[in-house]
Amino acid sequence: IYTLAIESSCDDTSAAVLCNDKVLSNIVARQSIHEEYGGVVPELASRAHQQNIVPVIDVAIKKAGISKEELDCISFTQGPGLMGSLLVGGSFAKSMSMALNIPLIAVNHMKAHILAHFIDEEGFEKPTFPFLALTISGGHTQIVQVNSFFDLKIIGETTDDAVGEAFDKSAKILGLPYPGGPLIDKYANEGNPKAYKFTKPKVDGLNFSFSGLKTQILYFIQKSVATNPNFIEENRNDICASIQYTIITILMDKLKSAVTQTGINRIAIGGGVSANSGIRKTLKEAENKYGWTTYIPKFEYTTDNAAMIGIVGYYNFLENNFSKNTIVSKARIEF
Ligand code: ATP
Ligand code: FE
Repeated sequence: IYTLAIESSCDDTSAAVLCNDKVLSNIVARQSIHEEYGGVVPELASRAHQQNIVPVIDVAIKKAGISKEELDCISFTQGPGLMGSLLVGGSFAKSMSMALNIPLIAVNHMKAHILAHFIDEEGFEKPTFPFLALTISGGHTQIVQVNSFFDLKIIGETTDDAVGEAFDKSAKILGLPYPGGPLIDKYANEGNPKAYKFTKPKVDGLNFSFSGLKTQILYFIQKSVATNPNFIEENRNDICASIQYTIITILMDKLKSAVTQTGINRIAIGGGVSANSGIRKTLKEAENKYGWTTYIPKFEYTTDNAAMIGIVGYYNFLENNFSKNTIVSKARIEF
């Protein structure tokens, strides 16, 4: 089964071609235009998608070594995401499915971040059901109980900021460019995680909160800079390591509770923040420490990419779960 997948939920235009559960091509066109604004500008994002979508899909099909007539279905991101961005990918997917007369499959972006684990990739094991997924990205922070490809239940999520925002906003406070997550990761590797102590939020159950941490970091930095103007430059590695350590501890505490509550000790991470080296290391260590089985996806499939939309498309194709051509894109979408 040849699946063409299109992802355009935020600021990356991506297209992939899969043969069954194997990725033949996965092209991502990043938009650098947003860097100078310190965040994604929705209007600029949708315009860039319009410019990129045709060449990106063209390259994905060519690189896969097939002709578009050989495609069996088209899957696309229905939501959640930026409306203008979603509409570009969604409209294109609909038109192409009509022109080629092949089924259309609408995919939930957040489920795709999780099911990316089922892409057949050498050296990567697929999770066994049921498992817990920790989805950490720029817009979401969720713990999901995954019973099957089609039975996913959110058992915990953030009540305010997402983990990615916690990283990016902290980075901004430190004067680092957007997106600052990867930079915090880089500096943290050279620093002492226990140099500064930040208090963890108290949130009921398996839910998260990150906005208080951001405020705490802001006040801490303001106070420190008031007494030493060079505080950030002199202590950047230690500050980044301490912030990252606090975030990881918050995530791990909730994961431990989730394991206790569900009795499931297979953990899969997904979403852009799962690229974080500290999170990856801590999770690997949890295998010995707590007896968990952990699944960490290939880097390419953690940030936004169309291959993850394609794998969900493929499994839906097998079940004849097709979408009508009248389906609408949704900025917010029920899970
Ligand atoms: P969503 O999937 O919720 O719609 P998104 O697609 O914008 O959000 P992703 O692309 O999955 O988000 O992830 C982007 C986020 O990941 C950014 O906040 C970025 O800073 C963060 N990130 C990427 N690499 C790292 C890293 N190594 N350490 C920490 N954060 C990182
Ligand atoms: Fe995403």
